[in-house]
Order: sequence, then structure tokens, then C-alpha cells
Amino acid sequence: MRTRKSKSLYEKAVMLMPGGVNSPVRAFRAVGGSPLFIKKAKGSKIYDVDGNEYIDYVLSWGPLILGHSHPSVIKALKSAIDKGTSYGAPTPLEIELAQMVIKAYPSIEKIRMVNSGTEAAMSAIRAARGFTGRDKVIKFEGCYHGHADGLLVKAGSGATTFGVPDSPGVPESYAKNTITLPFNDIKAFKDVIQKERKKIACVIVEPVVGNIGCVLPREGFLEALRNETQKYNIILIFDEVMTGFRITYGGAQSYYRIKPDMTCLGKVIGGGLPVGAYGGKKEIMSKVAPEGPVYQAGTLSGNPIAMTAGIETLKILSKKGIYQKLEKTMQHLEEGLKDAAKKAGIKTKFYRAGTMFCTYFTDKEVFDYKTAKTSDTERFARFFRGMLNKGIYLAPSQFEAGFISLAHTKADIDKTVKAAYMTFKEIK
Ligand SMILES: *Cc1c(COP(=O)(O)O)cnc(C)c1O
Repeated sequence: MRTRKSKSLYEKAVMLMPGGVNSPVRAFRAVGGSPLFIKKAKGSKIYDVDGNEYIDYVLSWGPLILGHSHPSVIKALKSAIDKGTSYGAPTPLEIELAQMVIKAYPSIEKIRMVNSGTEAAMSAIRAARGFTGRDKVIKFEGCYHGHADGLLVKAGSGATTFGVPDSPGVPESYAKNTITLPFNDIKAFKDVIQKERKKIACVIVEPVVGNIGCVLPREGFLEALRNETQKYNIILIFDEVMTGFRITYGGAQSYYRIKPDMTCLGKVIGGGLPVGAYGGKKEIMSKVAPEGPVYQAGTLSGNPIAMTAGIETLKILSKKGIYQKLEKTMQHLEEGLKDAAKKAGIKTKFYRAGTMFCTYFTDKEVFDYKTAKTSDTERFARFFRGMLNKGIYLAPSQFEAGFISLAHTKADIDKTVKAAYMTFKEIK
């Protein structure tokens, strides 16, 4: 691949922005080399400034479940833009998206739109603290809930990739109210609840951990979170920013049949524009301003452009057969990748929930942060580079989920599997 233009843009970018990027994992630090600069994207493909074409499994880190620049979304956006970009006053569109989300997530009775997943998680926790009058938060190792101060403790995503689970700049006093436990460890969870239950406002969890790859909840784990929190009036928050409208239309809570008290959403509900949302039980959400005293606001929250992209995306996703189609494509990819690894004689572990997935380079079962870290990241880096050279664009880190979209075709998957087989052999 010729990447001369990307390289020269990167040289400019590093002079202007930390690491040359506006979000850390976009830089190729974990895999070597420098990032590609993208010119355009359509369907399952992205195109860099040097004119190379790639099949994209990043999909802007999850939101683009319909594929890039879906014609209906783009058409709706063009017509929305003609009416102005933001009014800072209520619009019917906010009601429409709120109704669509609430219909799909019965645990959400009232919802507030924000501009990112970070804001959603930060605000949900504030509401939970305001409601319970308690301070402590339980989170799980490797779960990423955005970059709010108190949540950057043993967080996944870039924080895991770069081995700085605890970020400088976060005062100890912020982090001290965050209790971090291993994912899937029911005993550790119950022990802490017994000791601290009167001080704990909420438990926040990624029901499927997408920010250390793809780690599934073991049988009984999410149930234990639900039962214990219910016993002691602790708020259970499902951070479904990644899983929401992704693993099924109703997210992990519908898939695993657990009803949390609050839910965070983002990514897919923005259809590629900056959107987040948090919601839950009426009595908790009624604490949020202006109905209640818990302050939370946003200049561009619920703006008509972002709402339009979300509405149009959910409209398409709610049609019959969409998730079956996604599932079929995903099964094809799963079988192909597993088969390719086996034929090439390389040890991998593949996990997925709906259309989020991860291949780890380990022979150990992966069920939490520690076991995810057994993956050979040096081997992953070589896999990443080998795939990129063959026109397959994966997330430039072992500890990120991959995604497919409605636009991925059988031909895309076949090409990907073939590339994976060749790359597995190269890196053995
Ligand atoms: C991506 C993500 C976030 C953060 O969302 P941003 O829009 O990047 O702020 C929070 N929680 C989870 C589970 C995520 O996957």
C-alpha cells in the first residue's frame, strides 16, 4: 500500500495535536506505523487520502451499524440541515427519538439526550448519587465508561492499550469513591456489597465488555448484580453505549433479560453524529434538572441534526429481518475466522455478542481484564499490519471490539477471511 500522503499529513498533525489525533487509539501506537488519513467512506468501505480502499471493521468505533453514508440517513440529514443546525429550544425530533428508545428499552421511563457516551455515564452516575445520597461507585476492571475523572480507574479501551489504567490528572479524591472489581467475579462483588452497601450509590457495568475486546458475562453474573443491588437499593447502571442497538435492537438488557435501573446509550443512537443518552426509572430521572436538583445541561444536546441521524438509523434497524441479516453475515465471518486460524495452525480465541467481536491471540479462556491481557499483543500488531496491507481495516489495538454493518457483503467477508488466513500464516 502506498501511504505517502497519509504520512505527510501525520507529520503535520503531530505538530498541531497531541499524538496527531483527537482521540488516542486512532494513532497507531499500539501496532506501529502511523495512522491512515481518511478521505471518504461508503457502505462497508473506507478510502484513504492515497486512494487505497479498505473493508472497515471499525465503523467509527461502533456507531455505523448501517454502514458508512447510508443513503436514507444522508438524505434525511441533508433535508434537516436546510432547516438550521441547532435552535437551543425543544423540537419534535427529540420526542420522536426519545419515544423510539423508550419503546425499545422498557427499563427506560424517562431519558435525557447528551452529546457523547462519556457525558451519558458521568451524568447517570451523578443522578444515581443525587437519588441515593451516597457517594461510592462500583465499576469493573477493563470496563470503559468514557473519560470522566472518577471513571478513569482501571478503565479499558485506550487506557488498557497504553497501560495507564490510572490517568495522571485525576486527583486521588475523585478516584477514591470508585471501587473496582474483576468482571465476572460474583464472590468479590458480594463481599464488597456486604462491607460497603450503605455507602454505594450505584454499580456501573458494560454488560458485554467491548473495551477490552469482547468479554461475555458468565452465566449468573449479571443476575447477581441485579439481585444484590436490588436488595440494598443500589442503582444498577448498564452502560450500553456500545451494546445498545448493537447486539440486538433492545441491547444487552433484552438479550440477557436483565432490567437495570438506569441505562447509558450512545454510538448507534447517534447514527454517526455525536449523541449520548441516559435514562431509567422515573423516580431517578425526576431528580435531574429542571424537574429536580441534579444539574446537567448541554448547549447542543438533542440538536436536530444529531436527532435526525439517530431517528433515521433506528427506523431502518427496527424493520423486520435486519438483525437476522446482520447475524447471518456475522456467523459467516465467525466461522471463516475460526477456520482460518485452525488451518493456519495458530492459537486464537474468538468471542462475539451479536455483531461485536474480538479475536485474541491466546489459548486461555478470556473472561475478564487479566485473562484478556494474556493475549500476545505483539502478534496482534503483526496481524493488524498484515490485514491492513491486504485492504482490511481493523481497530489498531487488541483491546477493542470489531464490528460489522448491514453493508458488509458476503464478498467482503470472503475477502476478509482469505486475508486473515494468509496473515495468520505469516505471523505464526
Ligand atoms: C464508547 C464508549 C463510551 C464513551 O463514549 P464517547 O462517545 O466516546 O464519549 C462509554 N461507554 C462505553 C461502554 C463505550 O463503549
